[in-house]
Amino acid sequence: MRDAFEAVVGTCRCGRTRFEMSAPPLMTAACHCRGCQKMSASAFSLTAMVPADAFKVLEGDPVPAGVQGNGLAHFCCSHCKSWMFTRIDGVEAFVNVRPALFDDPAWCTPFMETMTSERLPWAQTPASHSYEGFPSMEELPGLIQAFADHLQANGGVP
Ligand SMILES: [Zn+2]
Ligand SMILES: [Zn+2]
Repeated sequence: MRDAFEAVVGTCRCGRTRFEMSAPPLMTAACHCRGCQKMSASAFSLTAMVPADAFKVLEGDPVPAGVQGNGLAHFCCSHCKSWMFTRIDGVEAFVNVRPALFDDPAWCTPFMETMTSERLPWAQTPASHSYEGFPSMEELPGLIQAFADHLQANGGVP
């Protein structure tokens, strides 16, 4: 049984763009690929896979960011250019939100990590599921279920 979920809010660096997540994420992840290293200017990106109907931009004007035409539509704040979320072409079910932007990001521990083949040698995450590339589409439902069980066992998203 799922308790009523209290929406959590996130903002870009300057605060002009605000969004909310009104249901628990389907997954949290870290991606070690070179593209994410460059987009985040860091060792890896963080993602919360948010059900598309539970993701809403409340304020501001997100604009396209990053490299276009590779099947990923990245969006950033039009003012401060913080990387905020990514939509995958042809995937309507969820939006990949950068969870470090949530007002309280402490819960966004990555459950899985991807593209460890490009991981910086010193970059470690506590993810319990690790992939050299990406999990297959066949593996994804089982992973999503495992994450839901994990959230429930740990009291959900604060
Ligand atoms: Zn990546
Ligand atoms: Zn901004």
